[in-house]
Amino acid sequence: MTELYLFRNDLRLDDNPGLLAHARADELVCVYCWPSAPAWCNLKGLGAQRERFLIESLQALHDELQSMGQGLLVLRTDPRVAIVQLVERLSISRVGSSAVPGHYEEQQLCGVLDKLRVPLLVHQGNTLFEEHQLPFARGNLPRHFTPFRQQLETLSVNTPLPAPRQLPPPPKGLSFPLQPASKTIPHPAFPMRGGGSEGQRRLRHWMFERRRVTDYKQTRNYLDGLEGSSVLSPWLANGALSVRRVAQQLFAFEETDLKNESTRWLYQELLWREFFHWRAMDDGPSLFRASGIIGKKQLRTFEARDFARWCKGDTDCALVNALMRQLVATGWMSNRGRQIAASYLVNEFNHDWRYGAAFFEKHLIDYDVGSNYGNWQYIAGVGTDPRGGRHFNQQEQAERYDPDGLFTAKWDGYQPKQPRYINDAADWPLDAPGG
Ligand SMILES: Cc1cc2nc3c(=O)[nH]c(=O)nc-3n(C[C@H](O)[C@H](O)[C@H](O)COP(=O)(O)OP(=O)(O)OC[C@H]3O[C@@H](n4cnc5c(N)ncnc54)[C@H](O)[C@@H]3O)c2cc1C
Repeated sequence: MTELYLFRNDLRLDDNPGLLAHARADELVCVYCWPSAPAWCNLKGLGAQRERFLIESLQALHDELQSMGQGLLVLRTDPRVAIVQLVERLSISRVGSSAVPGHYEEQQLCGVLDKLRVPLLVHQGNTLFEEHQLPFARGNLPRHFTPFRQQLETLSVNTPLPAPRQLPPPPKGLSFPLQPASKTIPHPAFPMRGGGSEGQRRLRHWMFERRRVTDYKQTRNYLDGLEGSSVLSPWLANGALSVRRVAQQLFAFEETDLKNESTRWLYQELLWREFFHWRAMDDGPSLFRASGIIGKKQLRTFEARDFARWCKGDTDCALVNALMRQLVATGWMSNRGRQIAASYLVNEFNHDWRYGAAFFEKHLIDYDVGSNYGNWQYIAGVGTDPRGGRHFNQQEQAERYDPDGLFTAKWDGYQPKQPRYINDAADWPLDAPGG
């Protein structure tokens, strides 16, 4: 029996239930289809750092597979075409993949399923809990985080599974074309490399060697550097690192070293990730709607000049400029930075939040559909925030998180003021409330 496993956001061998379920086949084809979503909000493709990180993650997975006599076939074709052709050409009897949220991603998988004449198994493994463990039925998830957290906090996380000891070989004659290396190098201020072992190394370094988890609650809002928050999201997002492995290591730290408010706070953040994942699974296309999952119409618009200034880091707010320049140069921005930059676009420019989310999607090396669009909706007041959105006072944020202006200066945020353009009635959407 020849089987095919389509990797998606689970680019690892460790704790990968999907891959393990296909480890007993006679032959196995391991495939990854390069992201090929159509243009959205006038943006297309991946930013240089996001692309680099993905290439490194795929290369690392290929190397790991090769050490087991396997390999990763990276295809630049839509899975609706590529998988169907491979199944026919190689007489594949079963296909597997991992569950990921996102409307486009779901359409892709449904498109594959429609054309296949063999079973397609979709495995869960990128969350702390599987669907059957959740204390609420799908379609009936709490709208807000607190009740979600309260019900999940007491559940035990399944023990992560070991990597397979061996894998079936690929079909004879199947070759793995060499993938072009990235032309981009990591920014020295954020020298993170893709791949499971790099993710494991970061986890070990931050949690056990530097013991930074012990005061995480106080440091998690740092705008820069690698000592504040865990910076595990790049590997969690593409699945090079298993979230259950992170939780297991955190529990081990709490047991053998220290359990305090900070260690508990980190677990709570993993639950935020969980929350946005399951919400995205349920929310479908409304995750991408201007009026959000709550369907709240707002008087916001698209203004090309404002959007271009925000993207470029050329607004009248020096801190926002620095944050946006940091994002494009490194593929990274801290959680506090994301909140400040998002609030600026939405509240100071009165801009349609989806353009900002799409720009983050292009550049963030930890882009994750549920976390990105869920957090943007939260800030814009059309999502899961019980307070109806967040409007940050930019000056207060700068005084609090960059009191000496060092971050702003480092990322070249101090830019000359721009003339203020005036919006007139023609700039506003016709279907505004009451319009
Ligand atoms: C506008 C906006 C867009 C965002 N886009 C993304 C995105 O595309 N991908 C992404 O992974 N996160 C996103 N986040 C959430 C958060 O900013 C990042 O997860 C966090 O900054 C990652 O840094 P860290 O690993 O050091 O996090 P830590 O503070 O060390 O937290 C540990 C882990 O918990 C999870 N986590 C923490 N905060 C959140 C949160 N608010 N929502 C969901 N999960 C969380 C992440 O997996 C993170 O790695 C976004 C937040 C905002 C406000």
